[in-house]
Amino acid sequence: MGDKSANADAPMFKRLALIGVGLIGSSISHAARRGGLVGEIVGCSSSVETCKRAEELGLATKMYTDPAQAVDDADLVILCTPVGAYAGVAKAIGPHLEQGAIVSDVGSVKAAVIRDIAPHIPHGVHFIAGHPVAGTEQSGPDAGFAELFDGRWCILTPEDGADKDALAKLQTFWKRLGSEVEIMSPEHHDMVLAITSHVPHLIAYNIVNTAAHLERVTDKEVIKFSAGGFRDFTRIAASDPVMWRDVFLNNRDAVLEMLGRFSEDLVTLQRAIRFGDGATLEKMFTDARAVRRGIIQASQDTPQPDFGRRVGSSAKTPSR
Ligand code: NAP
Repeated sequence: MGDKSANADAPMFKRLALIGVGLIGSSISHAARRGGLVGEIVGCSSSVETCKRAEELGLATKMYTDPAQAVDDADLVILCTPVGAYAGVAKAIGPHLEQGAIVSDVGSVKAAVIRDIAPHIPHGVHFIAGHPVAGTEQSGPDAGFAELFDGRWCILTPEDGADKDALAKLQTFWKRLGSEVEIMSPEHHDMVLAITSHVPHLIAYNIVNTAAHLERVTDKEVIKFSAGGFRDFTRIAASDPVMWRDVFLNNRDAVLEMLGRFSEDLVTLQRAIRFGDGATLEKMFTDARAVRRGIIQASQDTPQPDFGRRVGSSAKTPSR
């Protein structure tokens, strides 16, 4: 299976339509322009303010508030809104899609996204769902940068019978954006991401709220001594609330399954602490440490100690 475009330097698509130009949509625009992958980029956002800002930043030559107008004449359309908006967007663009076009998305859940988008895709248009496993806790059109996908994984979850050429072309597109590409079923994706991304975010949101509601430790102390570990949870918990609301509403079964397992393991730790079982604690902490080494060996993080950026630094921090 391989992409059939004759010239590796030529644009792969004549017009890319990005529906949503927040962190992920704007990063696709930066990376696609860096690689010369598309002839033109147009975009869509629900608010006039975001449309204006996206044009100022040069993310798109033309922005629309109506997704149906944005997909006109586009041979690649990527949905980059929170997943809760997908069904409405797909319904609006369906009748306006160009024959032969590829429609994809970047949503953090996949089975529910396919359920919401696929019924609106006309015959002759190729829909292949995707998820770049790369991001930061920031959002909006100013948050994007061209390097976001470099060395990160993009998971594609084609349905049975998906067009092979369209799949190969989308794979090549993501590779040229900087990603490694893996193909898996939507259900498997949702299970894997539930434990590697969704439950960690839920834990971060929860622990930050628990600390905020404590009565015997002041807010000032929580902030002052946050470098003890809490600070890293606050970074994850600063992620966009609408995006994460939609993730949990749309990956309910897999998240509940992983939360069940997490709760069982938490009880094991709780019992070990209660009964002074140091061997169990040490064994569980040693096992966890080995996972960190595996992530570094797979080049998904660096071994440098992370004491946080200096206050005032505006460095981008890829996280997931
Ligand atoms: P974001 O920065 O909050 O951007 C979302 C954009 O979608 C906003 O600019 C918003 O525009 C626009 N939007 C919302 N509803 C819309 C609609 N009905 N029509 C057109 N535009 C609409 O979000 P993001 O982080 O880029 O996430 C986008 C998608 O990527 C989500 O599905 C998420 O699951 C997935 N994802 C996120 C990450 C991450 O780390 N953030 C990583 C991988 C995948 P307005 O400003 O005009 O409201």
